[in-house]
Amino acid sequence: MTVNLLDLDLEGLAGYCEELGEKRFRATQLFRWIHQKGASGFDQMTDLARSFREKLATRACIKAMPVISCHESTDGTIKWLFDAGDGNAVEAVFIPEEDRGTLCVSSQAGCAVGCRFCSTGHQGFSRNLTTAEIVSQLWYAEHFLRQRLNTDERIISNVVMMGMGEPLQNYSALVPALRIMLDDHGYGLSRRRVTVSTSGVVPMMDRLSQDCPVALAVSLHAPNDVLRNDLVPLNQKYPLHELLNACSRYLAHAPRDFVTFEYCMLDGVNDRAEHARQLLDLVRRQDHDRGVRCKFNLIPFNPFPASGLVRSSSAAIQEFARILTEAGIVTTIRKTRGDDIDAACGQLAGDVRDRTGAGERMARRRTIMLQAAR
Ligand code: SAH
Ligand code: SF4
Repeated sequence: MTVNLLDLDLEGLAGYCEELGEKRFRATQLFRWIHQKGASGFDQMTDLARSFREKLATRACIKAMPVISCHESTDGTIKWLFDAGDGNAVEAVFIPEEDRGTLCVSSQAGCAVGCRFCSTGHQGFSRNLTTAEIVSQLWYAEHFLRQRLNTDERIISNVVMMGMGEPLQNYSALVPALRIMLDDHGYGLSRRRVTVSTSGVVPMMDRLSQDCPVALAVSLHAPNDVLRNDLVPLNQKYPLHELLNACSRYLAHAPRDFVTFEYCMLDGVNDRAEHARQLLDLVRRQDHDRGVRCKFNLIPFNPFPASGLVRSSSAAIQEFARILTEAGIVTTIRKTRGDDIDAACGQLAGDVRDRTGAGERMARRRTIMLQAAR
């Protein structure tokens, strides 16, 4: 069977090279060709022996998911739709900012958690992505952007696992993908610049803290179990006190000294002053080891058909942020990016309907912003 080398972290690739009768250090050269130079074939790898390249060509490949479409927002955000086969599609979104370039990556086709406010959740679960499929979003986007900007320099400085799917419900594929992102011979991203976002799969948070402690974001969305059971059904399995204890344990190993709590602002549902005050009690409770050091990221709800929910007013969001900030908790309100191409948080549904016409009308070349992100 052909091995897709995008599936292997450096350790895995070294093992594979040994199987082929090659020295382990050859794996480093091969790995750099793949991830740093974006090679998709073996011919160009001229510093590897021809015999090795020929061997590879018959048994291995470097195969990213095919791109179905690419839409560019007026704000410079770029969204790619990838074909995951069998009618499944997943999305990755590049968000350029002044001081960084962030890629939002998907981990599953669909999602089994089924949060009420999430378009991916409404779609249901199709399947886990493989390591190669997770990595290929970064591999493709990074080399696409370098080509466009005509540079060898790294463009993507941050990765957030905040696309489609619950990354901690695809743990075995996630961890090698993270290792490839972090590897100095791969994308060389620091642990602080790779964020796993989870709806709260407690046992896997503990495993991640041991196997590959990257920055952690936890999708909280509610300050009490009654409300959270309704919004994030996984809460019925891992209720808030367990989740907060897990956050506290994670922090002992994390590259940052805080957890980011994401909170989707839903009009009349979780956005009252009372909810903000309950949140303060929750994160400060003594039973999770002197409270959990955290920041809050308030996400204005991005509506989609069939959710039946409404975005909080900007006054409500400001007031909510004020209560948290005045209590000493750093709180940001997420800017909505790419909503003209349905690339904003929670709008990713792997929609394969042809939107090219609208996309092209809205698309603007924003090379300047891309350059600013370097
Ligand atoms: N499954 C993971 C990661 C993907 S979702 C998680 O839930 O954390 C990434 C973030 O987008 C999460 O915080 C999620 O709650 C938020 N989100 C989902 N749907 C949204 C919507 N419609 N509007 C705003 N944010 C949303
Ligand atoms: Fe899944 Fe995250 Fe969406 Fe919830 S918010 S359904 S966990 S992708």
